[in-house]
Amino acid sequence: MKKFTCKEIMNNEGGCDMEFSGDDMMKVAGACGQHVMTTTDPEHKPMRDKMATTMADPNAKEEQTKWFAWFKGEWDKKKDE
Ligand SMILES: [Zn+2]
Repeated sequence: MKKFTCKEIMNNEGGCDMEFSGDDMMKVAGACGQHVMTTTDPEHKPMRDKMATTMADPNAKEEQTKWFAWFKGEWDKKKDE
């Protein structure tokens, strides 16, 4: 099982200390995504904006792919707990 904080998932561009853990990278990313979408504070704005654009714009798929490639790297670096 790997554990990430909201901050780590946001690459320290904001976020909070809420923790997301699991064995499935997509599920952990998804859980954090759902959490981010429920926020309204400026700390989560960078990720909220990113998610809003990638969801609304099919051309932003590439951005999303890039993000997942980045997160996969972080995921692989992370030690199993
Ligand atoms: Zn958060």
